[in-house]
Amino acid sequence: MLTNEYSYLRCDHCGEIYDKNQIHSFCLKDNQPLIAYYNLHNHFSKNDLQDRSATMWRYHELLPIEKEENRISLGEGFTPLLALSKLESTYNQSRLLLKDESGNPTGSFKARGISMAVSKAKEHGITAMCIPTAGNAGSALSAYCAKAGIKAHIFMPKETPKTFQLDCEIMGANVTKVKGNIADAARMMRSQNDGSWFDVSTLQEPFRLEGKKTMGYEIAEQLQWKLPDVILYPTGGGTGLIGIWKAFFEMKALQWINHIPTRMVAVQGDGCNPVVTSFHNEMDHVQKYENPAPTIANGLRVPKPFGDRLIMKTLYESNGTAISISDHEIREGMQEFAKSEGLFISPEGSAVWAAYKKLKQTHWIKDNESVVLLNTGSVYKYTENLYS
Ligand SMILES: *Cc1c(COP(=O)(O)O)cnc(C)c1O
Ligand SMILES: [Zn+2]
Repeated sequence: MLTNEYSYLRCDHCGEIYDKNQIHSFCLKDNQPLIAYYNLHNHFSKNDLQDRSATMWRYHELLPIEKEENRISLGEGFTPLLALSKLESTYNQSRLLLKDESGNPTGSFKARGISMAVSKAKEHGITAMCIPTAGNAGSALSAYCAKAGIKAHIFMPKETPKTFQLDCEIMGANVTKVKGNIADAARMMRSQNDGSWFDVSTLQEPFRLEGKKTMGYEIAEQLQWKLPDVILYPTGGGTGLIGIWKAFFEMKALQWINHIPTRMVAVQGDGCNPVVTSFHNEMDHVQKYENPAPTIANGLRVPKPFGDRLIMKTLYESNGTAISISDHEIREGMQEFAKSEGLFISPEGSAVWAAYKKLKQTHWIKDNESVVLLNTGSVYKYTENLYS
């Protein structure tokens, strides 16, 4: 047994508690996400982390996997927090950092969440899983399921860059290409699932969030437990945004930090920005975006995130904001970033960079603040989006 403080699942919306020893997807009373809760006391301290492996599993007390043998790991997490020294000086920013997730297994931060979900599925004896994906989640599920000996069923929009399909198939997954966007892929998946596949759609199972929250722990640890003033996050389903915010509150309860100054920013694309619109309309949930336009930032094209209330809550609680970016700005930002820092970042990461510049220009971000940008994945699987 691992020392582990995982205690129960709870619906954040209606408060219903769910037994951690049974398999759950989401709250059956109101169709809202379930959140993992822990006994957060300070029996273990941040000093215990010192000699641990450079993966997300270094925080295992705060993760839901009970037996080490169920851990399905390909070395995910503990990615670098890079100092963007040249851009810092160009934009007169006292601290500008990039949490670079591109080196994760299968090339994106989806590895964190999927590693956790597949580990928990193994712990529960699940033998088949399914997911609708814009690409990266499918690659990750295929890889972790291969390692776990679980069958993976992947549903992706037809226009998904083709390396993703190859990636999934080479790892033994069953891939279905669907006409339309990720919501259409999800619909097709549900129509083919006879109930024997465990559905790991974003926030429709509780554990991808637990994997993604480790970015919050890492950012804190890499900044010597002093949180940044602003974090910009490229938001599709919002798991990372919600997860980082959850991690900060857990660390506060553990007394690892005593203050949460961070304002969280959701960044979306102009062609599908339901979070941005709903935020500016001061709504507590997200209005579905009709007819999302194709974009080079595939990961951001989510017309109606399932965890919408948690996304909105995170933005309001943190005094954050939401902003959207055009494909043109993404392309321009990508070149500037590459020429200046020597990093060819993903379109999603570049959207975050463009958002930083806009928020700096309007003084929503001040010169003396510390800012963390997220580059959520590697660009190299979808460079085909960038030719023309
Ligand atoms: C999935 C994905 C996103 C969006 O992440 P969410 O946590 O679902 O909001 C952003 N960038 C990349 C590269 C992705 O693959
Ligand atoms: Zn509920």
